[in-house]
Amino acid sequence: MITGSKEHNTALRHIAKKQGVKVNEYGLFRGDEIIKCNDEKDIFKVFGMDYIVPELRENNGELEAASINQLPKIIEDEDIKGILHVHTTYSDGTNTIEEMVKHCIELGYSYIGITDHSKSAYYAGGMLEDDIRRQHEEIDRLNEKYNNFKILKGIELDVLPDGSLDYGEDILSLFDFTIASVHSSFNMDEDKMTQRVLKAINNKYVTILGHPTGRLLLSREPYKINLGEIIKVCASENVFLEINANPYRLDMDWRLLKGAKEEGCKFAICPDAHRVEGINDIKHGINTARKGWLEKGDVINTLDASEVLLFTQTSLK
Ligand SMILES: [Zn+2]
Ligand SMILES: [Zn+2]
Repeated sequence: MITGSKEHNTALRHIAKKQGVKVNEYGLFRGDEIIKCNDEKDIFKVFGMDYIVPELRENNGELEAASINQLPKIIEDEDIKGILHVHTTYSDGTNTIEEMVKHCIELGYSYIGITDHSKSAYYAGGMLEDDIRRQHEEIDRLNEKYNNFKILKGIELDVLPDGSLDYGEDILSLFDFTIASVHSSFNMDEDKMTQRVLKAINNKYVTILGHPTGRLLLSREPYKINLGEIIKVCASENVFLEINANPYRLDMDWRLLKGAKEEGCKFAICPDAHRVEGINDIKHGINTARKGWLEKGDVINTLDASEVLLFTQTSLK
């Protein structure tokens, strides 16, 4: 019977006690008598609650929500229609655009957003202006070849230490969407880092804020940043927060998602794939989103490619 986190179980036992029910690893008891339950759904029914899926059992408001039919219908694998944030041989990826496309088609997705590194990421083979033109020509050719699948022209832009981006408007306006990410100078004080990222997300060409805290699990702490402020501005400027699904990042953390959603933010679940197999990492991002109470409508890549394009084009006006 004990299948949630400690916090969830303690809170549930507390509610049970008030209702005269004892909960332990052997079952539910009223006095000495066991309450018969066939499955987990029955257990929640005893307390007048809707069924709470295991991911939400964190004492994060789920018990209250379940009592008043207000649990979210959390996102499912099948809701994701396209893959955003992949690297190819144009920067530090292992596979070609076409190999990435083929893998997405095999997995049943209907579009991919190619986002190689921008030029300041020289250590990762960031793209010079000519590389971008060459890549866009190749994407145009492939879009003709794969006519039931759409390849979007994106880029992962380095947010420079002063918050500016790598290219001028002439280049930035060539992309269907962009991801702005911090990849250097991590040791700024909180105020400087916050101003740096705010400047980037206020740029009208930025669609998604990449791996918003910069953490690498087991090796790098998040950088110092006023995330509350960042979340507020992302909500008001319609910049999507990335849920970077790379298992070393899982950034943003699931604990931050519910609050950001309540502030009005939307999200992009991205694998940050550097080879074809990396695309499969998206599942970790979906699981993260599920723990963070996100629903289909909260996530941009549950939309069709045409809807994504419509969104990014209107946000430019
Ligand atoms: Zn990155
Ligand atoms: Zn990346």
